[in-house]
Amino acid sequence: MSEKRDIKTTHLRSDSHVLQLLYTVLIITFFVLCVLFYNAFNTRKNDPSAYDAIHDYYEITDESLENNVFMPNSWTYVPNLRRNDVTSSTTIADIKEKFTYADHATITDSGCSDLGNSVVWNAKTPNLDLQEFELNGMPMTSSGYMMKIFNRSYDNTIFLDLGDINGTAYIYCNGHYVGETGDMISYEILPNYNAGHSSFALSSETNNELELIIICYSSSRITNPGLINYPAIISQLNNTVLSSAPSAWLAILMTLTAFAIIAGYFLSRTFKDIRVYIFFVLTIINVILYQIVDDSFLIMNSTTRQAARILFFISAAAFSYCFISFIYKDRRHKDSGSADCIVVSAIGIAFISLSFLDSRLLSTPYNEVAAIIYVAIIAGTNIVKTVIRNIDNTLATFGSLASVSVFFTFYAMLSEDNILCNVSLYSIFYFFSIIAICWYFINQYVNQYIELVNTSTHLKYAIEQKTAHISEINKDLVNTNRKLMENEEARKNVMSNVSHDLRTPITAIRGYAELLKNGSKTLSEEQKESYLANIVRRSQQMERIVSDIVEISKMEATNFEFEFMDVSLNEFLDELYMLYASDLPPAKKIIMDIPEDDIMIIHVDPKRFSRVFENLLSNAINYTKEEATIKIKAWRTNADQPIDNQEIHITVSDDGIGIPENEIEHIFDRFYRAKNSGQNIKGTGLGLSIVKMIIDRHDASISVESEIGIGTTFHIVIKPTY
Ligand code: ADP
Repeated sequence: MSEKRDIKTTHLRSDSHVLQLLYTVLIITFFVLCVLFYNAFNTRKNDPSAYDAIHDYYEITDESLENNVFMPNSWTYVPNLRRNDVTSSTTIADIKEKFTYADHATITDSGCSDLGNSVVWNAKTPNLDLQEFELNGMPMTSSGYMMKIFNRSYDNTIFLDLGDINGTAYIYCNGHYVGETGDMISYEILPNYNAGHSSFALSSETNNELELIIICYSSSRITNPGLINYPAIISQLNNTVLSSAPSAWLAILMTLTAFAIIAGYFLSRTFKDIRVYIFFVLTIINVILYQIVDDSFLIMNSTTRQAARILFFISAAAFSYCFISFIYKDRRHKDSGSADCIVVSAIGIAFISLSFLDSRLLSTPYNEVAAIIYVAIIAGTNIVKTVIRNIDNTLATFGSLASVSVFFTFYAMLSEDNILCNVSLYSIFYFFSIIAICWYFINQYVNQYIELVNTSTHLKYAIEQKTAHISEINKDLVNTNRKLMENEEARKNVMSNVSHDLRTPITAIRGYAELLKNGSKTLSEEQKESYLANIVRRSQQMERIVSDIVEISKMEATNFEFEFMDVSLNEFLDELYMLYASDLPPAKKIIMDIPEDDIMIIHVDPKRFSRVFENLLSNAINYTKEEATIKIKAWRTNADQPIDNQEIHITVSDDGIGIPENEIEHIFDRFYRAKNSGQNIKGTGLGLSIVKMIIDRHDASISVESEIGIGTTFHIVIKPTY
C-alpha cells in the first residue's frame, strides 16, 4: 500500500517538475515578449524628426506629433551655460559663437551629455575652461541644451515634455523665458530629481521657427547637472495623456501593492505560509528602496554612482537568492541547503567586481550588462535549484517564477530609458509581479478552501455513518435494558409468588393446627383425620416450592451428578399415571396411549425424569378449565431400523387455555410466566426451566405446540437403549 503511494508521489513529482519548467518557460517568454514589445514601441529611443541641414533645424509635422517627437541625439550640448547668457535677443548662433559646444549630444542617465561615453566633457579638465560660480553662497555648475525646431503642424502651440532632470532646469524659447522645473529650495543641497514629467507650452512665432534652450543648474557637488531622459515635443492631446498617465499608473501600483500586502498577510496566515509572504514584502521594500536610494545616487559623481548602484544590485540579488534558498532548503540534506547559494553568490560578486574594476577584463562594455548577467545567473540557479530539488509543487513554481520576475525587474531598472507614456518598464514588471503574487496567494487560499470543503464532506459522511452505528447500538442497549427490566419484573413477581405460595400453606397449616389444638376434645376423629391430611398436603406443597428452587440451584452447580439407569418407559409412565389419576379434580381426566407390545427402555435418572412429567402434568392440570382431558402418549419411530436410528416420542397434551404464539419461545426461561396464565393460577415460572435443564442433561429434546383456547402439547424426543 505504502509502496503504491510512493510510486504515485514520485510520478506526481516528476509531473510537477515538467509543470514548473513549463510555467517558468512561459513566464520567461512573456517577459521577453514584453521587453521586445516595449522596445519596439518605446519612442524615446527613436528620432523621428527630420533634420534640415540647410536651415539647421528639425522639422515637426502633424504626422510626427501624433506619436510624440523624441530627439535623443539631436541636441547641441553647451557646458557652463547660465541663465544670464540668455536674453531676448540671444540666438543659438550667438551662443555657438561664444561657448564651447558639441553637436548632436546624447543624453544619458547620469545626467549629462556624455559624447561618446565620456563624462569628462563637463568635468573639471585642464582643456576646458570651467566657470564655477556661486548661487546663494553655494558653488554651482551648469550646462545647457539647445535645439532649433521648425513647426509645420497646424497646431501653433506645441509642448516640451521634460523627464528626469539632474538639478533644476530653466526653459527658454526664442530667447523668452518659458518656465522652470525642479525644487528651487533644495537644489543647493540635493539634486532635483523630478520623477514626474513637466510640460511647457511653446508658441511658434514668425516662420514657425523655435529656438529652444534648456539650462540646468546643480550644486558643484553634483558633477553632472543636466537632462536624464530625452525631452519630447508633444501635441496638446498627448500632453494631457502624458501628464495624467503617471499619476493614474502610480495610483494603480499603490492600490495593488497595498491590496497585495494587506490581503496577502491575512491570506498567508490562513494557509500558514508566512515565509512566502515575508519574501514578497521584502521584494516590494527592495523595489521601493531602490527608487528612494537611486535619487540620492545623483549627488555622487558618475563613477561612484555607478559603483553604488551595482553594489545595490548585488545586495538585492544576493538577498533574493539567499532568501529563496532558505525557503527551498533541501529537506533530505538539511545541512547542504544553502552552500551552493553561497558559492554562486561569491562567484557572481567576483564577476561583477572584476567587470567594475576593468570592464575589458570580461569584455563587458558596461557595468549594467555585468549586473544583468549577474542577476541572470542568480535567477537561473534559483530556477534550476527549485526544479531539481525535492520540494512541493506550488512552492517550487512560486520560487522559479519569483526568480524570473526579480531578474526582469532588475534588468528593467537598469534600462531607465525604457519609458513609454511616462511609465517605466520596470514598474510594468513590478505590476505583473504583484498580480502574480496576488494570484499565488488567492490560489493557495482557494486550494485550502476546497480541501476544507472536501474534508468537511468526508467528515459529514463519517459522522452520519457513526451516528447510524451508534443509534444501532443504542437500539440494542434499549432492548437489553428492556429485557433486564422484564427479568427484574419477573424476579419480583417470583419473589412475591414464592412468598405468597409459602405463606398460603403455612397459614393453612397453622389454622388446622390451631383447630386441632383448641378442639382436641370436641372434634370428631374424622375431622381430626381430615385436618391432619390437609396439613400434610400443604406441607408437601411448601416442600415442592422450596425443592424447585433448590433443584435449580443444584443443577446449576457444575459438579451435580445425575444417576442414570435403564428404565422401562412403559412402567415409568404407568406409575406416574397412578400417582396423578387418584388425586385429580373430579372433572379432569388423564388418558394414556402407550403401546403394550413395545417395551421402550430409556437411559435416564428416574428421579429427575419423573420430575419432568410431574411438572408437565401439573401445568396441564393447572392451565385447563374445570373440565379437561390430559393425554400422555408414547411411541417409537423407525422401529424396523437399528436402535441408533430409532427415537422415542412422548407427548403430554391438554385442551386448556394455550400459550400465546409470541410467548412460546420464552416459556422455558426462568421465572417466565405467560400473560394469560393470570393471577388465579399460582406458579413460579420455574417448572419448565427445570424441565428443560433435565431434558438437556439427558441429551433429549423438548418442544411445544400450542394454540390459544385449543390446548398445548409438549413433545419429548429421547433415544432408546433398547
Ligand atoms: P408456572 O409455575 O408458572 O407454571 P412453568 O415454568 O411451569 O411455571 O410454566 C411457565 C409458563 O408456561 C406458565 O406460567 C404458563 O403460562 C405456561 N404454560 C406451561 N404449561 C402450560 C400449559 N399446559 N397450558 C398453558 N400454558 C402453559
